[in-house]
Amino acid sequence: MSVSMGQLEEARRALDAPLFADVAGDLNVSFEFFPPKTAKMEESLWDAVKTLEPLGPKFVSVTYGAGGSTRERTHATVARIARETSLAAAAHLTCVEASREEIDAVAEEYWAAGVRHIVALRGDPPTMGDKFVPHPQGYANAAELTAGLKKLHPFEISVAAYPECHPDSVDQASDIDNLKRKIDAGATRAITQFFFTPEAFFRFRDAAAAAGITADIVPGILPVSNVAQTRKFAGMCGAEIPAWMDRLFEGLDDHPGARSLVAATIAAEMCRKLYAGGVRDLHFYTLNRAELSFAICHLLGLRVKRLAGVVAA
Ligand SMILES: Cc1cc2nc3c(=O)[nH]c(=O)nc-3n(C[C@H](O)[C@H](O)[C@H](O)COP(=O)(O)OP(=O)(O)OC[C@H]3O[C@@H](n4cnc5c(N)ncnc54)[C@H](O)[C@@H]3O)c2cc1C
Repeated sequence: MSVSMGQLEEARRALDAPLFADVAGDLNVSFEFFPPKTAKMEESLWDAVKTLEPLGPKFVSVTYGAGGSTRERTHATVARIARETSLAAAAHLTCVEASREEIDAVAEEYWAAGVRHIVALRGDPPTMGDKFVPHPQGYANAAELTAGLKKLHPFEISVAAYPECHPDSVDQASDIDNLKRKIDAGATRAITQFFFTPEAFFRFRDAAAAAGITADIVPGILPVSNVAQTRKFAGMCGAEIPAWMDRLFEGLDDHPGARSLVAATIAAEMCRKLYAGGVRDLHFYTLNRAELSFAICHLLGLRVKRLAGVVAA
């Protein structure tokens, strides 16, 4: 990838100035939520949505549980966001254990509810560690799902990408071929799995560009405050957690406040480096908590925007 003068200057500034001094805030952000199970979880989700809404995200998205287990809850959450907020809402949708007809019916419901953006995914088998087997009448993978959705309606489609390679891929080249198939099928944006070294993202972005992928590749940012839990999940999805991160969290088990501050610091620094490398779109895995993502966005220069004529506080 060629590096422009602007980027060199930016990189220099990142080294010379205090890390977060006067970052312009010229970023698009998006926030991912999961559908709540209980009334209490619903309340905290809604708090998170309301806290993050004034930052003016490009969109927010709601995940889809394994095997369609959250079908109704995902729909209810996306529909409520579309109905009650100013936010553009995207629904995640997977191919797991459903026929094409069933998946198409879910997509039709979204279209009817005014949802125009789908995050199209293959999904994982319901039992962790099993190999993915497509439903006999189903979509075999995310590329097929993307093509199927595009046949139904002109949805905006985002898909997943893996800077450190998807575990089912033999190598990165075939993983990038797979991403290209998804883009060629009609996706316009790839959102990455979380990662913890900016270099992993930059290498992946370069490899994707070399393969002719011109769609936006948006880094997925996971602010980690529970390393053990993240490590469990990272094992399944091919993301590496550097050993220094464990060491940073040592001794903080009984200090949730300190853990959050450390989590925000680590994630914000990575975002700052991504910004220095030209990244202007970031997708936050919020885990339905607003404060970490809000703090990171603030450090990156984002400020609350006026909402429909009122000053959002
Ligand atoms: C941003 C993001 C959001 C996510 N949201 C959810 C969610 O809401 N719900 C959920 O259950 N999961 C979610 N996931 C996880 C995702 O479902 C899993 O990572 C899953 O294992 C792969 O899904 P995919 O869409 O990347 O699959 P695909 O792109 O279809 O493929 C995954 C891998 O399978 C192989 N493959 C696929 N097709 C072919 C082919 N034709 N030939 C050879 N190899 C092939 C490739 O190795 C490819 O890398 C999300 C992941 C990300 C990054």
